Amino acid sequence: MELESILLPGVPEKRPLVIAGPCSAETEEQVLSAAHSLVDKGIKIFRAGIWKPRTKPGGFEGVGSVGLEWLKRVKEETGLYVATEIATAKHTEEALKAGIDVLWVGARTTANPFAVQEIADALQGVDVPVLVKNPVNPDLELWIGALERIHNAGIRRLGAIHRGFSSYEKKIYRNLPQWHIPIELRRRIPNLPILCDPSHIGGKRELIAPISQQAMDLNFNGLIVESHCNPDQAWSDASQQVTPEVLDFILNMLVIREGMSQSTENLNILRKQIDDCDNDLIEVLSKRMRIVREIGTYKKEHNMTVLQTGRYNEIINKRGEQGAACDMAGDFIKGVFESIHEESVRQQIEIINQKLR
Ligand code: PEP
Ligand code: MN
Repeated sequence: MELESILLPGVPEKRPLVIAGPCSAETEEQVLSAAHSLVDKGIKIFRAGIWKPRTKPGGFEGVGSVGLEWLKRVKEETGLYVATEIATAKHTEEALKAGIDVLWVGARTTANPFAVQEIADALQGVDVPVLVKNPVNPDLELWIGALERIHNAGIRRLGAIHRGFSSYEKKIYRNLPQWHIPIELRRRIPNLPILCDPSHIGGKRELIAPISQQAMDLNFNGLIVESHCNPDQAWSDASQQVTPEVLDFILNMLVIREGMSQSTENLNILRKQIDDCDNDLIEVLSKRMRIVREIGTYKKEHNMTVLQTGRYNEIINKRGEQGAACDMAGDFIKGVFESIHEESVRQQIEIINQKLR
């Protein structure tokens, strides 16, 4: 893909490229105070959502176009570049007219090819950096398709933002990182800059540092982080925002490994993929245990024994065969399932022996 740098004049070339600012623009004062604090910490590009796609009606849906005036003031007063999310052709036109320096397409929009095409059409003949978040669902082709639509409109200063993927089960992460997807994006379009959004992946402020470090270890180009002067009072995404001071601390703690030998880098990438697989294994196991507990309740209500030998033998034999078909030693898989079964039995015995309330 023919691309040009997304770096703006005066923005240092070194990793990470940082975009920071509140999830949403709330009031003119809130926007300006965040911008002043962030510029004091050396931030160069300021983010704030004006139009907010919310999951349910009744949430704060953004201040709308008036926020563009506030962002213009941010530029004048602080010299920061400003970035905002666009979801329609109208947003795109208004943002361009207001001189917004960087536009991004949100995850819900990327998932909708009609909406992306509408934005791409509004970008025809314009030269502005555009960042495309991954779609909410883990579909790399849909992500690449959105990037292609924007690229076909003539945008060359293009980048991607990895913000994780929705899942029904919400455990450690708000949005599962599934690092192998942005890694595959890098393999498919090697010259495309990728930023990580640790705020929306983690959903909680404690996770911003480790996720950012992981992104740096995977050689991502930058970070887009939500920062608010009074995070707990934020009108959207309060639990994942950090103060500009905390953000500065997090950024200073990052270890940026440059010039790694190809083999070390490959090893790191592979190890991250192992971490990713292990996280998936834990999520799946905990889902399995939840079902096991439901079965425990059923057995209790129907006065059945916990151990049903026929079913146990069937599982152990079948899984052994499945494992062998996937090039794993039958005994190994048998051992894994014996351990899983042991824990399942322990959990069901606990349920069966619970006193009825
Ligand atoms: C955001 O950046 O505030 C946002 C709405 O993100 P996403 O599109 O990743 O949900
Ligand atoms: Mn947000």
